[in-house]
Amino acid sequence: RRATLAKSVLLPGITLDRHVISLQANIELDADLAALRRLGPTAVGLYRTEFLFINPKASPPGEEEQLRAYRKALRALRGSALTIRTYDLGGDKLFDGDMRDGQISPNPALGLRAVRLSLREPAPFAAQIRAILRASAQGPVRLMLPMLTDLSELDQCLALIAEQREALRRAGRPFDPDLPIGAMIEVPAAALTAEAFARRLDFLSIGTNDLIQYTLAIDRTDEMVNHLYDPLHPAVLQLIRLTLEGGARAGIPVAMCGEMAGDARYTRLLLGLGLREFSVPINRLAEIRHVIRNSDCGALSQPADALLATPDRAERLRRLQEINRDLD
Ligand code: PEP
Ligand code: MG
Repeated sequence: RRATLAKSVLLPGITLDRHVISLQANIELDADLAALRRLGPTAVGLYRTEFLFINPKASPPGEEEQLRAYRKALRALRGSALTIRTYDLGGDKLFDGDMRDGQISPNPALGLRAVRLSLREPAPFAAQIRAILRASAQGPVRLMLPMLTDLSELDQCLALIAEQREALRRAGRPFDPDLPIGAMIEVPAAALTAEAFARRLDFLSIGTNDLIQYTLAIDRTDEMVNHLYDPLHPAVLQLIRLTLEGGARAGIPVAMCGEMAGDARYTRLLLGLGLREFSVPINRLAEIRHVIRNSDCGALSQPADALLATPDRAERLRRLQEINRDLD
């Protein structure tokens, strides 16, 4: 089994009925770059940049320091695309700025987090956007915004990106004028209105870790309620489906980069719901590819629909087992 998995890393993610499934990697530390270098060509669907900001440092990294980090990642990728997520600080990714006048946010997950924080303090956000834009002169880069809830936030981000482009142009600094811009869909409000986001963007990526947390009102870090954290909840599956449909209507690709995408128990279900792009931790790539290569998309859509329409949890688990029946 181990040998089969190791070999399957080199094979394309093609299903038995010849659907080509994109398999990308999630990275979040420098150490992941070494593992990336050992892989065959693999795009990065989620590069979490918080580590640059959270490590004990006197001050947040400036534009040049970030640019060096992004270029290093691009070199490791040797021509494959790098999707850089702008910093998602606050919430469970604590940092000093999560204090307001010495007081910790009363409910960090619902507070000044991710793009909300970025828009409130635009100077470091602008520096990151400039670093991302400048990195795009060196290789295929995509920019991804976390935790959008309202279209007005997206519009503000797009305006800020346009300003930084203009600033770089004036300064004679090269960047890719067609740099794709996308967003994570990880708040139920965004999933319900995914098409509107999709119409202004080049790609979407579903962040199930937060989408499940916010849909079920289950703190993703609270062990007392872990047992209620259910990726198979029909509300979660509905929101995934709505996001996929919204992206399809707008004609842009929709990936999934939350943990659900890297859990082989859900691969077939997600294929059945219509997901065609998975972004997963590096150590999961082989297993997910193995399941994809042993799946038939056409045969999965009916069982996936049936599971989504099943209110009883035990019955959903039984259906999932049935979907995965012949997998070793
Ligand atoms: C997610 O929420 O699913 C996600 C990928 O982002 P993070 O886990 O970094 O919040
Ligand atoms: Mg998230």
